Amino acid sequence: MAKKPSNNYAVIGLGLFGGSVCKTLTDRGQDVLAIDINETQVNTYAPMVTQAVIADATDETAMNNLALGSFDHVFICIGQNMQASIMATLIVKELGAKDVICKAESPLHARVLNRVGADHVVQPEVDMGQRVADRVLEPNILHY
Ligand code: ATP
Repeated sequence: MAKKPSNNYAVIGLGLFGGSVCKTLTDRGQDVLAIDINETQVNTYAPMVTQAVIADATDETAMNNLALGSFDHVFICIGQNMQASIMATLIVKELGAKDVICKAESPLHARVLNRVGADHVVQPEVDMGQRVADRVLEPNILHY
């Protein structure tokens, strides 16, 4: 697939969702900083991305030292630890990140993320369920 114009990306939280975001971006030739609190997750993605770092996304100093505010796009892919997801979103927005995309586990979680400044909030299961149903209902339409 064609390489898109160069941007820099940070992905925080390397579970299934964040890992998939990392892989897609790197497959498209983009620079990716991958961050997780868990060493095993970081070691898994380190060979794939530009830089992989063990850090706690709720540690403001650590996020500042990693210059999260200077990234074009920051993905917060922490779901179950809602407190960490909300705090990380607030921190990276206050550091100046222009485009922060967050994963939410529930509609209420999504509302809180919007309130603290998330630019885009996705609920993967809900969004994918809609897309799968749309695809069955309208098979002749090109779905993205
Ligand atoms: P997925 O569905 O994407 O696999 P999950 O719902 O099973 O994710 P989550 O709790 O959303 O699990 O965590 C996703 C990743 O975020 C994990 O790899 C976890 O180690 C990481 N993570 C959780 N809290 C923090 C934090 N404070 N700082 C950085 N990474 C974190």
